[in-house]
Amino acid sequence: MSELSTAVDSPVATGSVPGSAALRAALDAAGRVLGEERVARPAGDAARTRLLGPNTSLFRSRRVAAVLRPTTAEQVGEIVELFSREPDSGSLHAISTGRNWGLGSREPAEDDAVVLDLGGLDRVRALDLDAGWAVVEPGVTQGGLSRLLAHTPRMVNVTVSAAATSIIGNALDRGVGLRGQRTEDLAGLEVVLPGGETVRVGWWPGAGRTAPVYPHGLGPSTLPLFVQSNLGVVTAAVIRLPARPEALRVTRLGFPAPALAEVTDTVRRWVAQGLTRGVPRIYDPAAGASYGGAEGEWAVHLPVDGTAESVAALTGILTAEARRSGLFTEISATDGADPARPHHEVTRLVERAYAGDPDITDTLFRAKMGVGADKVDPEAGFLFFLPLLPFTGEAVAHADRLLREAAQATGVRLSATLHLLGPDLIDCVVAMKFPHEDDAAARAHRALDLLYASFADAGFAPYRLDVDHAGQRDALAVDAAAVALTRRLKAVLDPNNAIAAGRYR
Ligand SMILES: Cc1cc2nc3c(=O)[nH]c(=O)nc-3n(C[C@H](O)[C@H](O)[C@H](O)COP(=O)(O)OP(=O)(O)OC[C@H]3O[C@@H](n4cnc5c(N)ncnc54)[C@H](O)[C@@H]3O)c2cc1C
Repeated sequence: MSELSTAVDSPVATGSVPGSAALRAALDAAGRVLGEERVARPAGDAARTRLLGPNTSLFRSRRVAAVLRPTTAEQVGEIVELFSREPDSGSLHAISTGRNWGLGSREPAEDDAVVLDLGGLDRVRALDLDAGWAVVEPGVTQGGLSRLLAHTPRMVNVTVSAAATSIIGNALDRGVGLRGQRTEDLAGLEVVLPGGETVRVGWWPGAGRTAPVYPHGLGPSTLPLFVQSNLGVVTAAVIRLPARPEALRVTRLGFPAPALAEVTDTVRRWVAQGLTRGVPRIYDPAAGASYGGAEGEWAVHLPVDGTAESVAALTGILTAEARRSGLFTEISATDGADPARPHHEVTRLVERAYAGDPDITDTLFRAKMGVGADKVDPEAGFLFFLPLLPFTGEAVAHADRLLREAAQATGVRLSATLHLLGPDLIDCVVAMKFPHEDDAAARAHRALDLLYASFADAGFAPYRLDVDHAGQRDALAVDAAAVALTRRLKAVLDPNNAIAAGRYR
C-alpha cells in the first residue's frame, strides 16, 4: 500500500468539492464503485494541495482533485470509463506505491489531476518457477516478491531503492535494477485503455498455454507504448524472473580521481569482454562513502556470477587485470565472503542484492537516506537527475566536470553512481541530498536546473524526468515527428483526456 494515510484521513466533503459538474459527477460515481471510504476529496480549495502530503524533493505540491483507491482491476476499468465520458470530467494520474522519490513521489506533473492509487491491488496472481515468470499487480513490492522467491531457483531483478517499492511502478518509469533495466523484465502488461476496455499486450499466460515467454508477439509490438506513457493504466504485468546464480561475488576496486577516464575505459573493456555481469557500478567519492569507499576515492563494484568454478575463475582474471593495469589503490574480491574484512557487512548486502535480495530491512537504504522508507517524504530532502552517457572515459570525465561546476555554483552536495548498462551505455545517477527545508531545497532545485541545461548542451539527455521538468520531452527529442506520432495516438485513444498528460506528455 502506498503512503496515503494523510489523504485518506482528510474529510470527505462531497458538497464542497471544487471542480466542474462533470468532475463531481465522476467522483460521486467513483464513490459508488469503490465505497466513499476509498475516495479522498479535499474539504475545500486550500486542502487541494495537501491531499497527497509532503514529497521528499519539495516539489511544489500540486492541486489534486481527489485520491481514488481501488482494490481490483475491474474497479480500475470502471473508474477509467467514468473519467473518459466528458472532456472536463478530470484526468487520472496512476501510481503504484508512489515512492518515485527524487522525481516527484506521488505528485502528478500538473494541477487538478485525480490520483489513482493502485497500491491496494497487491496480489501475485500467478507464478511459474520453471518457465521463469510472475504475474503481479501494481501494489506488489520488490520485497514482497523476493520473499516469495526465497530458496527457489528464480529471483527478482531488484533496485537499490526500498524493499517497499513497486515492481510495476519502477518498470513503467524505466527504472534500473542491479541485473539490468527493469523494462527488460516486462514480458506482458494488462492495461485499461481510456474508455475502460482492458487489453493484454506482450506475452500472457493462459490456461494450458505452453508457449515460451516472448514479449514481442507477431506484428507491431504494443507493450512499449505503455511505458512512460499516458495511454493506459496498468493493472498487472508479467515479470520475468531470472535464474538465481549458483554463486556470486563482487570485486571491489578503489581509485583516485585523476584516474577516472582511464579506469572507465579499462572497465568498459571488461564489460565488453564479459568479465563482469549484471549492472557493475562506479561510485564517485560521495556515493562510494555508503559502500565503504576510502575518503576522497572513487569505488567500483564488479559482480561476477555463475557456477562456483566460473565465479572463482572470472574473479581471478578480473583481479589480475586490475593489478596489471596499475590504476587501482584497492583491489578486493573477498569482502563479502570473509567476516574479518573491514567492509564485509556492506559488501555482503551488495552481493545479496545482485542475487535478488532487496534488503528487506532496508539497512543500506537507511544508511544512505538517514531515515526509513516511511519517513523519506516527510523528513528527507532528495532529488534525482538521470542522464545517459556514452561509455567512454572522455564522456565520464566531462560529466564529472559538469557535476562539480553545478556543485560549486550552488553549494549543493551531489553524488554520482554510474550504472554500467552495457559496453556502450551508462546510466549516470546523480543524487542530491539536502535538509528538508525551503532554502536548502531551493539551492538543490537550482543545481538541478543547471544540470538539465549543461548536460543537454553536452549531448547527455536524461532518460527519466521529474515533475518540474515535464515539458522537456520536445526539447530533448531526436525527431519531433516521432513525438507528434505519440500525441496523435493519445488524441485517438483518449480524446477526453481521461489519463493525465504526465511527465512524458
Ligand atoms: C536511496 C534511493 C535509491 C533508489 N534506487 C533506485 C534504483 O536503484 N533504481 C531505480 O530505478 N530507482 C531508484 N530509486 C527511485 C525510486 O524510489 C524507485 O524508482 C521506485 O521504485 C519508484 O517508486 P514506485 O515503485 O513506488 O513507483 P510509483 O511512484 O508508483 O510509479 C512511478 C511512475 O510510474 C507511473 N505509474 C506507476 N504505476 C502505474 C500504473 N499502474 N499504470 C500507469 N502508470 C503508472 C507513474 O508515472 C508514476 O509516477 C531510488 C530512490 C532512493 C531514494
